[in-house]
Amino acid sequence: MSRATILGAGVMGLCVATELARRGHAVTLVDPASGPGGHGCSWWAGGMLAPFCEFENAEEPVLRHGQAALDWWEANAGGVTRAGTLVVALGRDRRELDRFARRTQAFDLLDPGAIGALEPDLAGRFERALFFSGEAHLDPRAALAALVAGLAAQGITVQPTRPADPGQIIDCRGLAARDMLPDLRGVRGEMLVLRCPEISLARPVRLLHPRVPIYLVPRGDGVFMIGATMIESDRRGVVTARSVLELVSAAFALHPAFGEAEILELGADARPAFPDNLPRIGRATHPDGGERLYANGLYRHGYLLAPAVAVQLADHFETGAQPEFWHETDDQR
Ligand SMILES: Cc1cc2nc3c(=O)[nH]c(=O)nc-3n(C[C@H](O)[C@H](O)[C@H](O)COP(=O)(O)OP(=O)(O)OC[C@H]3O[C@@H](n4cnc5c(N)ncnc54)[C@H](O)[C@@H]3O)c2cc1C
Repeated sequence: MSRATILGAGVMGLCVATELARRGHAVTLVDPASGPGGHGCSWWAGGMLAPFCEFENAEEPVLRHGQAALDWWEANAGGVTRAGTLVVALGRDRRELDRFARRTQAFDLLDPGAIGALEPDLAGRFERALFFSGEAHLDPRAALAALVAGLAAQGITVQPTRPADPGQIIDCRGLAARDMLPDLRGVRGEMLVLRCPEISLARPVRLLHPRVPIYLVPRGDGVFMIGATMIESDRRGVVTARSVLELVSAAFALHPAFGEAEILELGADARPAFPDNLPRIGRATHPDGGERLYANGLYRHGYLLAPAVAVQLADHFETGAQPEFWHETDDQR
């Protein structure tokens, strides 16, 4: 058994803590915010576990490692709904659907009858759709709470400060780690939560658009998360009028009943991302002088890739094996 102190109780830190604790290591979890909440990027996520759809605009490791995330979440947090993803486009954007199909795999092409059979409330609204049956979704806030509860059951609670004898420090501070990772940047995502009891959807629906593709994730009881913008900016917590307009317009285009929906929440945060938009595991020296292991750069794949990153980091912690996501700076080589 080895000792580790994990900094950050977002999805990255909680997955690392869960993986190390499961393997019998002595884990301390530190976060000045005392637990998951609106201060962290993980709070605002849609919770899509969509490796095939994300591959449209991502590197191959996202496809490969993302598929393992469904089982990891089911085993460690529960609450995974395996109902696939439906991808649609409005008539004027039908070329977007063809382009999406060319860049992805593992889908069925649905005609209007099949769309209506899958999602009755969308019957008659779209000529064609792509159905990715191997995808899933979860409620991110419930998933974070389940990881916190699982750790608490093993006596690991979130501490506000570091212990005197921390063992190996593992830095999972998300965007706050820019003080030691200079090429980490923020990509702002804005979202809103609507209540629309007139509409029932069983699965996430992506509405393609040449400029502003959006998705709706059902959260149950007529509640939907609608997201998400992608803005190269590290201004955290800012939701612009333009983004609200675009998200609401897209929901309305998916189904006019969303015009009467109640807006429950607006939110935003900046996703921590490296230049290639892939996660990294590595070693870095913090300005306070101490060297740390770190895991960061989950970009728009926090829930999708945190399990794989956590497993690779835990393997490295135990055996020194070099993770696939390992990164060395020029002066470390
Ligand atoms: C609108 C939106 C939608 C998204 N949708 C999805 C999705 O559907 N699927 C998906 O997979 N991903 C999604 N993402 C991406 C995902 O949310 C992020 O990749 C992920 O949350 C990053 O997690 P993190 O743990 O690295 O950072 P964070 O969640 O920001 O956690 C960092 C933690 O570090 C703590 N911290 C800061 N300083 C210190 C310190 N000095 N010591 C200790 N702790 C510290 C903070 O308090 C915080 O709790 C979405 C993101 C956004 C914004």
